[in-house]
Amino acid sequence: METTVDPFKRLIEITRSMTRVQAPAPLLKQIIEAAVEISGAERGYLFLLDPDETLPLPERLQVGAAHQLEPDHAKSAGFGASRTVILKTLVARCGLEWVDALSEPNPSQSVEMRGLRSIICEPLTIHNKILGLLYLDSQLTARFNDGHREILPSLAAQAAICIENTRLLVEREESLRREHEEQAYRNAMAAFMAIASHDLKGPLTVLKTGLSVLRASGADSELMDDMGLALRKAQRLVAMYLDANQLGQNEKLNLVKSQLDLHAMVAEELHHLERYLSPSRRQQFEFANQVPADTMVSADSDRLRQVLANLLENAVKYSPSGGSVTVSAEAGSDGVWLEVKDQGRGISEDGLAHLFEPYVRVHPDDIRGSGLGLWIVRRLIESHGGRIEVTSREGEGSVFRVFLPR
Ligand code: ADP
Repeated sequence: METTVDPFKRLIEITRSMTRVQAPAPLLKQIIEAAVEISGAERGYLFLLDPDETLPLPERLQVGAAHQLEPDHAKSAGFGASRTVILKTLVARCGLEWVDALSEPNPSQSVEMRGLRSIICEPLTIHNKILGLLYLDSQLTARFNDGHREILPSLAAQAAICIENTRLLVEREESLRREHEEQAYRNAMAAFMAIASHDLKGPLTVLKTGLSVLRASGADSELMDDMGLALRKAQRLVAMYLDANQLGQNEKLNLVKSQLDLHAMVAEELHHLERYLSPSRRQQFEFANQVPADTMVSADSDRLRQVLANLLENAVKYSPSGGSVTVSAEAGSDGVWLEVKDQGRGISEDGLAHLFEPYVRVHPDDIRGSGLGLWIVRRLIESHGGRIEVTSREGEGSVFRVFLPR
C-alpha cells in the first residue's frame, strides 16, 4: 500500500519541533516515525554512534529511537536489523540501499530470518563526523522509491543536528558548571587572603617597631639585618595580597608617585635577594645591575619595589641550576623600559598565552607559589599607565620587559 503522507509537511513539522523541544529523545522518535510513515517501511531505527573510537564498531552502536520497538528489544537476540548494511554504511560514510536483500552476495542472518528484502541506511553526518545512522527495512522488494531516497537524507540531517545540538548543550552546561566552581573557589580564596592579610598586618607592625628599638639599643646588627629582611618580605607579601584583593574587586589602587632612582632601587633589591638566598644557591647565580646610573622613573615606590622583587624572585625561583640574572633599563622620550633577564627553565608557548592571568602556574608543582605574582605585577604596572611583555624559550630563559611612562 503506497503512502499518502506529505513528506515535506512532516519535514517542516520536525523543523518546528526542533526549536521547541529541548530533550533529544522525543525529537529522534518523531524523526524515525516520520521516516517509517513516509517510506512505508515496516521497521525503522535511529542508531547513535558512541564517539569512543577505541571500541569495536558494532559495540559503538546503540538504538536512539525506534519505530515499534520495546526498550529492551534492541539488546535481545531477536533484534535483527541487518548489521552488514549498517557496518557497510558506516565504513563507506554514505547512504546505502539493498533493493532485494536476498540477491546480495553476503546477506546477513537477519535478512534470512526475517525475510527482509529492502533495506536503506543513511548516515547521520555533521561537519564530516558520523554521529549515527537512520535504518529502515521492509519485507517487500524494492520498497523504496526516488522520493524516499530524496527525503531520507534530510531526515538524517535533522537527526544529526538534533544530536549535535544536545552534545553542544551538555558541553556548554559542563563548562559553565566548571567556570562557576572555579569562580566560587577564587572568591573564597580572595576572601580568605584578604582576612588573613589584614590580620597579619597588625602583628607585623608591632614586630617592626620592636626591631627598631632593639637595633637602637645596640643588638647584634647582622641578626637584626636578617630579621629586618624577613620582616620586610612578610610585609611585602601582606601588601601584595591586600592589593590583589582590591584589584580583584576592580578597585583602583591608591598610588603615591615620586621620582625614583631606578639604579639605586635595583641595587637594593638585588642586595636583598642575594642576602635572602642560601649560600649554596647564591653561588649558582651571577647578578648584574646594568641600569644606567641616572635613570629616573615616576612611580609608587613600594609598588615598583614589589614589581622588581617579584620579577627577580621569579628569575631565581625558576632557574633551578642558576645562571646570570641581569637587570637593565633604557630611557626613551616617552618613558623607561626595564628588563629582567634570566637563564632559567623558560616558559612554553601555551604558558606565555596565559602568564599574566590570576592563579596561572606554568610549571609542574615542584616549586611552590600562588600563581598570583605576575597577575599583580601586571595590574600594578597598568595602574601606572605602563605595560609588561615577556619573551621566553623553554630551557633557555626568559626576559620580562616593563614599560613605565614618563
Ligand atoms: P608563582 O611564582 O607564585 O607561581 P607568578 O604569577 O609569579 O606565580 O608566576 C606564574 C608562573 O609563571 C609561575 O608559576 C611559573 O611557572 C612562571 N614563571 C614566572 N616567572 C618565570 C621565569 N622567570 N621563568 C620561568 N617561568 C616563570
